Amino acid sequence: MKYIDPHIHMVSRTTDDYSRMALAGCVAITEPAFWAGFDRSSPRGFEDYYRQLTETEPARAAQYGIHHHCWLCVNPKEAEDIGFAREVMSIIPDFMDRPNVLGIGEIGLNKNSRNELVILEEHLALAKNMNQLVLVHTPHLEDKLKGTRLIMDAIANAGLEPDRVLIDHVEEHTVSEVLDRGFWAGMTLYPETKCTPQRAVDILERYGTERIWMNSAGDWGPSDPLAVPKAQVEMRRRGHTDQMIHRVTWENPKTFLSRSQRFNVEDA
Ligand SMILES: [Zn+2]
Repeated sequence: MKYIDPHIHMVSRTTDDYSRMALAGCVAITEPAFWAGFDRSSPRGFEDYYRQLTETEPARAAQYGIHHHCWLCVNPKEAEDIGFAREVMSIIPDFMDRPNVLGIGEIGLNKNSRNELVILEEHLALAKNMNQLVLVHTPHLEDKLKGTRLIMDAIANAGLEPDRVLIDHVEEHTVSEVLDRGFWAGMTLYPETKCTPQRAVDILERYGTERIWMNSAGDWGPSDPLAVPKAQVEMRRRGHTDQMIHRVTWENPKTFLSRSQRFNVEDA
């Protein structure tokens, strides 16, 4: 069954992963800008990274018939140094017109610090000024609920439409508030930490399939680029209809991403 993985960091995956994803039914992915696993030594390092996201990866993905789109930002982990982050942000507008760029992301909070919040607010203002979609990273574990609320308040203060913002890495204790406030919600399927495919399907059974998607968030750490098709299998095993599986793994991401005219993937 065809699917979209709307959050995966292909810069840190091999070409074999593209091949296996295509075999499993992947037709399109979107890749948010994120932390490379180390802090960049200079803001100029991001210029190369944005070229990789807008030139190299789309070409690599196309070899397997996969549409590649991306999101640009300074990730919250490197936003603690405000001067550094602002310098990086000053080059983002130069890349926003590239044909595979869908919006600003993944922005958000990591440690919920004051500096991270300042840079988050500046990203939101940039998204508002440039009329861009937003993809949000929420903090891990004990910081998640507080961080998610801080982020949702900042988005409201920035005057962005919740319907044009996806809040990712939701879990059992954050999903209902995110949906109730009108945002889109993303569930990240990790083999052990965050949501396993089983937990994600539990959440769908409890909260429904409106405005929610699943992604692998595959990166350089322990993660699984085939997490979305594995969740499809789990849904089928539990007796969910193909229509419901298609809604969560195809129609929902397509509906949200198509709010940007750059996302033009034909119906499956
Ligand atoms: Zn990510």
